[in-house]
Amino acid sequence: MPVLINFKICDNAKECNGVAVCPTGALAWDEKKKSIKIDNGKCISCRKCEKGCMVDAIHVAKNEKEYEKIEKEIEIDSRKTSDLFVDRYGAQPIHLAFLIGEDKFQLEVEESDKLVAAELFYDESIECLLKSVPMKELLSDYQVKYRKVETGKELMEKYRIKKLPALLFFEKRKLLGKIEGYYDNKKKDILVKKIKAIIKK
Ligand code: SF4
Repeated sequence: MPVLINFKICDNAKECNGVAVCPTGALAWDEKKKSIKIDNGKCISCRKCEKGCMVDAIHVAKNEKEYEKIEKEIEIDSRKTSDLFVDRYGAQPIHLAFLIGEDKFQLEVEESDKLVAAELFYDESIECLLKSVPMKELLSDYQVKYRKVETGKELMEKYRIKKLPALLFFEKRKLLGKIEGYYDNKKKDILVKKIKAIIKK
């Protein structure tokens, strides 16, 4: 029984890279339970899933002792997914696991069954790079998958976005709403209200 997943920091989405790279189906998406499932009987300990997970949520233990050790570490891990999000883009570099290009938008955002917050930015805009919104703080109350998306014309036209950065919220493959433009600290309350009005949870 070598494979463990730390679901406290895992998106637990069907588009999981660990599931995609597993050659035997030991790691698979359970459509009924809407969760990643592990079949250790099929696992060949190749560690592809472990390497494929960019937030280090998947572990492959060498033996029972190591399995128990990792299990305990997961048990006492106090983090949640949003703890990995960025506080302020200028102060702390974004975790690469959350950064995607337009080419991954369909799979990671539009076709995800999860509640997804996509922050669209233009990579050549200094304002977009330095003045991102504090996602960690804003989304800590929600079970949300977050992606920061380097955006070009295609997405802006598709979602009729006039101003970047823009926050787009999707759930069950539908756009719930969008917020355009930068909100600095003084306007944070307005942003929180807007997010709550869109998510309504
Ligand atoms: S270690 Fe290899 S076979 Fe086992 S779950 Fe991970 S990718 Fe699949």
